[in-house]
Formats: sequence, C-alpha cells, structure tokens
Amino acid sequence: MKVAIVGGGITGLAAAHRLNELDPTVDVHLFESSDRLGGVLRTERSGDFLLEHSADMFTTKDTAAIELCKRIGFEDELIQTNGKFQRAFIVKGNSLVPVPKGLNLMSPSNLDAIRETTLLSSAGKKRFLDEVNVPPKLENQDDSLYEFATRRFGAEAYDKIIQPLVGGIYTADPKKLSMQATLNQYLDMERRHGSVIGAMARQKKVGENDSLKSDAVVTSGARYNLFLAPRNGMAAWIAALQSRLTNTTIQLNSFVRSISSEGASWRLQSSSGESEFDRVLISTPASIAAKLLCDVDQELSRQLQTICYASSAIVVHGFSRESVEDSLEGFGFVVPLSESRNILAASFSSVKYAGRSPDESVLIRSFVGGACQPELLEQTDASICDMVKEDLADLLGVKGAPQLESVVRWTESMPQYHVGHTDLVAQIESSVASINHLAIAGKSYKGVGIPACVQSGESAAESLLDSAR
Ligand SMILES: Cc1cc2nc3c(=O)[nH]c(=O)nc-3n(C[C@H](O)[C@H](O)[C@H](O)COP(=O)(O)OP(=O)(O)OC[C@H]3O[C@@H](n4cnc5c(N)ncnc54)[C@H](O)[C@@H]3O)c2cc1C
Repeated sequence: MKVAIVGGGITGLAAAHRLNELDPTVDVHLFESSDRLGGVLRTERSGDFLLEHSADMFTTKDTAAIELCKRIGFEDELIQTNGKFQRAFIVKGNSLVPVPKGLNLMSPSNLDAIRETTLLSSAGKKRFLDEVNVPPKLENQDDSLYEFATRRFGAEAYDKIIQPLVGGIYTADPKKLSMQATLNQYLDMERRHGSVIGAMARQKKVGENDSLKSDAVVTSGARYNLFLAPRNGMAAWIAALQSRLTNTTIQLNSFVRSISSEGASWRLQSSSGESEFDRVLISTPASIAAKLLCDVDQELSRQLQTICYASSAIVVHGFSRESVEDSLEGFGFVVPLSESRNILAASFSSVKYAGRSPDESVLIRSFVGGACQPELLEQTDASICDMVKEDLADLLGVKGAPQLESVVRWTESMPQYHVGHTDLVAQIESSVASINHLAIAGKSYKGVGIPACVQSGESAAESLLDSAR
C-alpha cells in the first residue's frame, strides 16, 4: 500500500512514524513544501545561544509526545525545567507580580494566595472567592473564555489574571476563544460540581480515588515539572524522529498543489511531479487542506476554511546578565491586554532550561501580536525590536545593547479555536469519514499543543490502516 502524507510538521512526522511502526510494508511518501522538516518547530544556534523559533517545550500531561520520544529512544535527551524558579509573573503597571501560588489558569488550589495577591482589589478578591456561589450554567453549551471567566470569577479577575494567563497560551481573542475546545474541564467542573472552587474543594476532600476527578481539579499550581524540552532544541527531536523513519520517502521542496480521487486511488500533483496513492493523509493547516480538497468535497472544503489563524512574532534577545537589573527569579511573565503594552508575554528561556545561553548572559523570548494586537506586526522588524526593548527596560530594567536580537514572524500560524469549534471539527470528521482512504490531522482541529498534534497524526495514521482491513 502506498500512502501520501502532505505536510512535514510534527503531525506529519508522527503519522509517518506510526505507519512505519504498525505496518513496515506500507510505502510512505511525505511531501513537505519547505526545505526542512518540523513545520513551525525550528531551532537555531547563535554562538552559545540556543533559540527556539516557536515551541520550546511540551507537556507530559497529555502523553502522546513523551510516549513517542520513548519509542524512538529520545527520552534521555529531554530535560526538565529548572527546579529553582518554578513560577511566573503577571504585569501590573511597571511591576511583575507573582501568579498567586497554587493557581493554574482558573483552578485556585490555595484560596489564601488569592486573598493575599496584590493583583486584585479587595472587591476583586471578594468577587473571585464568591465564584463558589455563582449559579452554574447547566446547559451543555460552548462559552467564550471572556463569558465564562467574567460570569464565574468577575470582570477584574478576568482582566488582571485569567485573560493574560490564557491569552499567553492561545494568542486568541478571549471573546471568541472556545472554552469547550480549549478548557472544557472548567465547563465540566461547573456542570458537575456547581462551581470551579467547589470542584477543587471537593477533590481535596475525596482524594485521588474520586471518579469525578478531572485534570483541572487535581492540578495544584502550574506544574512546571510536567514540561520537558529537548536538551539541544526541538530540531534535535525532529532529526531523531526522521532518522527512525523506515519505509518513508521524504520529498522536501515539494509543494502539493492538488489532490483528486480517481476510482479507488488518489492522484497528487506537487511541484516535484504527479503520482498515485492508495491513501492520503493531510497534515497541513486546515486553510491549506481546504484548498487541496476543494475538488474532492466542496462542503468539507468550506468547513475547513471556517477555521481562522492568528499571526504573531517571537522576538529573541540575548543580554549580558549585568545589563538586566531584575533578578529573573521565574520563568517569565504575561501581560494583561488592559495594560496596553507591546509584549503579550515573555519567557526567560535561559532560566527555564539549561543550555540556552552562555553563563554570563540571559535569553529572553517575547511574544508580540496575536489575535488582539495584529497591528503591531505591521511594523518593521527593527520597530518591533524597539517596542519590545522599551517594555523590557520598563519591566526588567534592561539597559544597553543586546548581544543578540532576532525576530521570527509566524504569519497566520496559530489556529483560533472559536466558540463552536468542537461542533465544527465533529462535522469535518464526519465529512472526512465519508470519503474513502482520506485522513486529516494537525494543529487546526483538536489541540494546538505538540502532544495533541502527535496524537492527531498517530490516530489519523491508524485510521488509514484500519480502513485497509
Ligand atoms: C510561536 C509558537 C509557539 C508555540 N509554543 C508551543 C509550546 O511551547 N508548546 C507546545 O506544545 N506547542 C507550542 N506551539 C504549538 C505547536 O508548536 C504547533 O501547533 C505544532 O508544532 C504544529 O504542528 P503541525 O505539524 O500540525 O503543523 P505545522 O508545524 O504548521 O506543519 C505543517 C507543515 O505543512 C507544510 N505544508 C503546508 N502546505 C503544504 C503543501 N501544500 N504541500 C506540502 N507541505 C505543506 C508546512 O510547510 C509545514 O511544514 C507553538 C506554536 C507557535 C506558532
């Protein structure tokens, strides 16, 4: 059997590897339009600085990525976050205030820390803690992050804490971001336990064996020990994965232009020619899958087109340690939109993971743009760097010229899971299921994080083999 995979990001690679694992006789052809594998995952070395262009770590809470690392013998290459400074900050004015202890996104496991934080006024704290008395919305309906967080915890907590913490992950518009598709455990807690705080308290009481246990309930503070990174960057993982592929032909610089079905087989046209396949797996962003499938199924193509993308930029700075006044005793900070700054969030990469900068230097990655500040990306690279340095000077007391400065732009790269996304994906899945020997996978559907992408690629590969039986 001959299978084509379109897209050589982590999803496509995980799919190819799974096909090799399950049936070494399957002849896999992986088409990648660029000159390298990895998609958005890319690592660059500049002297002793190690720069990640996009993701710099993945969680082991969802196990697909770590399991894949184990299966390819890459586990020993993964490093943990620095055990010393496992905390993050939220910007308030010109200060960095620690995220209240025990607060993981919207799960507060330490209510005293909420009472003590300087992020909220007395009224804001009272309203936050009153969440336990807010009547639950019981219908099984999607909500936006904004709607859910303001309804349950109040406008101030949303504004000062929840929006920046969640916004930093999804670079999304909180008024459109689907709770069901991104943070469904909170809808579940509300429905099943009446409130988030009530669910947390109940979990504490009943302990580990409770059948009502959900991820969010058991989480106590951001669990940084769950985040792993390849010692030598994401590129090392991609190279290791590539080296483990067996019956797979990799075609770089091969932009797939069209896909059509001809009887029981598929015809694929790419910049490197035309060929026929028994099965096709598309792991490109949905916007590209929509174009590829427009002649195969117009309705499916329309559904795929509905998924939007946000753009962002990562600005990487290396500074000498002495030119940064702040003690950098944490992993980074997030910025509430209401603070009207240029930076959305910043990560102290060299504090978080070893080997990211020379000893006497620090590496800081700042995120700019996203769905709420797209206009900032219209600026030139030089202006974006200046805006970021202005914020870093205010917030971290950074002085003097950087040792390293680089802007990585991600245009229309982050899928936006808008309210209704889960239903839309169910429709897409049903349309795909009605087409023989086709599978789709990737960041656009059931999770943008690396583990979700690996899971999606592997499941799609399995579905193609299942359809062969
Ligand atoms: C800035 C940023 C920071 C992130 N940080 C994290 C993080 O810290 N942790 C985490 O878990 N996740 C993070 N993510 C998310 C995660 O990295 C991505 O969702 C994931 O890597 C996407 O993988 P993918 O293979 O689905 O898509 P992509 O990486 O987009 O790969 C798709 C591939 O398809 C190729 N392609 C497109 N069109 C065609 C065509 N017509 N023919 C052939 N090939 C084609 C592309 O060139 C690309 O290589 C981050 C994402 C970004 C953008």
